[in-house]
Amino acid sequence: MEFRHLGRSGLKVSEITYGNWLTHASQVENEAAVACVHAALDAGISTFDTADVYANTAAETVLGTALKGQRRESLEILTKVYFPTGPKGHNDSGLSRKHVLESIDGSLRRLGTDHVDVYQAHRWDVSTPVEETMQAFADVVRAGKALYIGVSEWTADQLRRGHELAGELGFQLISNQPQYSALYRVVEPEVVPTSRELGISQIVFSPVAQGVLTGKYTPGGAPPEGSRATDEKGGKQMISRWMRDDVLSRVQELKSVARELELSMAQLAVAWVLQNDNVASAIIGASRPDQVRENVKASGVTIPAELLQRIDAVLGDV
Ligand code: NDP
Repeated sequence: MEFRHLGRSGLKVSEITYGNWLTHASQVENEAAVACVHAALDAGISTFDTADVYANTAAETVLGTALKGQRRESLEILTKVYFPTGPKGHNDSGLSRKHVLESIDGSLRRLGTDHVDVYQAHRWDVSTPVEETMQAFADVVRAGKALYIGVSEWTADQLRRGHELAGELGFQLISNQPQYSALYRVVEPEVVPTSRELGISQIVFSPVAQGVLTGKYTPGGAPPEGSRATDEKGGKQMISRWMRDDVLSRVQELKSVARELELSMAQLAVAWVLQNDNVASAIIGASRPDQVRENVKASGVTIPAELLQRIDAVLGDV
């Protein structure tokens, strides 16, 4: 496993992060969830991503249980705040001082730790002044409950404003967590160049497009039993945007590229996001430990420029 710095901070994260959205306390039984976390640890993953909203807080609890007994200093634990997790009262979501300061304590309790390494704004909150949010984050850091602050799916302008305020308040905004894969490249024109300028890294989610880039879904074919595309608890709906024959047939064409590199399709997809030097880590999800063991082998892989061009040509503008 190789490690990269988050932004201009001294914090290093593993190139592959393990994340538990849609799996822990949902699609996957607890025993399999713990086995995936242990497979991740055995493979050298030190960085774990969750959110209070995943499985309505239960995913944090499962992750905390799975990590119990590990040396805390060897782990980077990331969680997020923004979405409502329980009663949808008027102060139960967003990035108000009240919601941020109340949410961090619940996350720490469920994760079984006295601090997270990166506390992330899960989205931008249009209804709270960003000055108030960043002051709340500064206070979370000052209280030692989070060591660093990150955000998720912020635009280039939002990152610039957050970075500016963090600087004034004496802490750094070190990461943004966007969706990024060979099938979804929205951050490339603006978010990535702005982040490079500001010293913010991307920790990217859905690098295998929720399973689509593994090539296991074929045009016209039935999805494999037990896969996310058959998960009625939420996965099926989340992956549906990619389950189109035109997408699935183009993905099949990438098999020759994977073969040339002696990689599996999943490894090719994860390695692809890591070719971007603004990406510090790819957050992989897994429903089985074998998937973790397979996908971590993408760390340290270089994809030659001519094969990157072939991938671009195959996927075009899907
Ligand atoms: P991926 O693109 O890695 O998809 C993971 C899923 O793909 C697995 O659960 C599995 O599903 C399938 N898969 C993975 N590897 C293989 C393989 N080798 N062979 C076959 N199937 C495979 O990422 P996710 O979409 O799960 O997101 C990862 C993490 O990113 C989340 O857990 C979360 O931490 C973070 N995230 C953050 C968001 C945000 O708003 N900030 C939003 C979404 C995710 P199956 O076996 O069921 O088919």
